[in-house]
Amino acid sequence: MSIPFVAIVGAGPSGLLLALMLGKRGIPVRLLEAAESLDDRPRATHYSSPAVYELRRAGVLEDMKAEGAFIPSGACWRKLNGEFIAGIAAGRIEDPTSDPLTCLPLNKLNLVLQRQISKLPHVEILYSHKVTGIGQDESKAWVEVEAPGGPQKLEAQYIVGCDGANSQIRRSLFGDWEFPGSTWAQQIVATNTYYPFEKHGFDWDSNFIIDPEHWYMAARISDDGLWRVTYGEVPGLSFDELKARQPAKFKACLPGHPEPSDYKMVNFSPYKVHQRLAKKMRVGRFLLAADAAHLCNPFGGLGLTSGIVDVGGLSDCLEGIYTGRADDGILDIYDTVRREKYNEIIDPVSTGNIRLLFEQDPDTASVENAFLKTCKQAETDPEVVAAQRKAGNALQYDFREHYHK
Ligand SMILES: Cc1cc2nc3c(=O)[nH]c(=O)nc-3n(C[C@H](O)[C@H](O)[C@H](O)COP(=O)(O)OP(=O)(O)OC[C@H]3O[C@@H](n4cnc5c(N)ncnc54)[C@H](O)[C@@H]3O)c2cc1C
Repeated sequence: MSIPFVAIVGAGPSGLLLALMLGKRGIPVRLLEAAESLDDRPRATHYSSPAVYELRRAGVLEDMKAEGAFIPSGACWRKLNGEFIAGIAAGRIEDPTSDPLTCLPLNKLNLVLQRQISKLPHVEILYSHKVTGIGQDESKAWVEVEAPGGPQKLEAQYIVGCDGANSQIRRSLFGDWEFPGSTWAQQIVATNTYYPFEKHGFDWDSNFIIDPEHWYMAARISDDGLWRVTYGEVPGLSFDELKARQPAKFKACLPGHPEPSDYKMVNFSPYKVHQRLAKKMRVGRFLLAADAAHLCNPFGGLGLTSGIVDVGGLSDCLEGIYTGRADDGILDIYDTVRREKYNEIIDPVSTGNIRLLFEQDPDTASVENAFLKTCKQAETDPEVVAAQRKAGNALQYDFREHYHK
């Protein structure tokens, strides 16, 4: 490939989706990935309405369904003993103008994206290509890359950092430690576990358990009995210490108080969780999207959802420039809008979601917590349902409004 219009750094879900959305519109793209293959760790599973809208625009929903994607019955909040506090049933927020929240483990979404990209002649994925440095002038940008054949300098008109939380593009633009925000003291552990929650009274697909010590989430993520169980742990423990404590945690937390022989855990990954937003999402010919640009805790499924919304918007901005229907200033609008949406929606909502789990008294949650009070009202009031839906879609923004042709 000669100099592509766009180079994307990172073949995680955001980089793959951006490559696909641009590639399907005939825009030449080169995707650079440091690893030899796609990441298989247990991370995102649930995509909220604004993300599903972009996945539909990308033309991948049917393939996702074929891989097992489904619409969960809803999410509820419970006490540690399983007692129901409040919930949002998917049916209550059904609306032909709004895509329903959809569940598919990230590794399967990545495969769908990779498979569709492989059919596009002008999208190239280069694995084992690790970006180590960057540069730009008035007519192009470039990255320095460690590749199997030796160091390379690869150029493009625009370069997008989709290279995750430790983004080299972001660090090269602003400095290694410049990622404003904070890190939660709480440790979390994400597992994928086969266990018959439904036989123990968990009759909702997603369950958030409010408890000062044993707070956790249990969500069905497949049709064959696989659940994502993500639980809070005390800070400061090593991987081995967390692993050693896991059977006792499950026995204390999970309904039915199971022994290890009662379940099959297929993934176990501790994570630190952050609330951070890059200083800018555009610097000249470099752009940032998804985790490279912003992070939030995973309770509530807003992390990749917000990344997918970045990517959908950025694909429109870059297409506008490529086809001459927008000028380069549209990228400044991308920077302003996406950072505002993080500050106004992602940060406060995701912070509220995690605090609810370990700070709220479960006995008074449904009357004291504003969000759960609204869920209770939504059980009987369609206007509250409509307001919830509108709030859920507020992440969206159509950058094509800024095309001049
Ligand atoms: C436990 C857990 C559960 C979650 N659940 C949800 C959920 O239900 N819903 C949701 O919306 N979000 C969820 N998230 C968040 C979501 O997983 C992330 O937001 C998402 O994976 C970020 O995707 P990304 O493409 O930005 O980055 P990544 O997936 O991190 O991909 C970055 C890619 O860039 C590559 N890379 C890095 N550095 C370089 C370099 N120098 N050169 C070349 N390549 C490089 C990496 O190898 C990697 O492939 C969850 C997160 C966690 C931890």
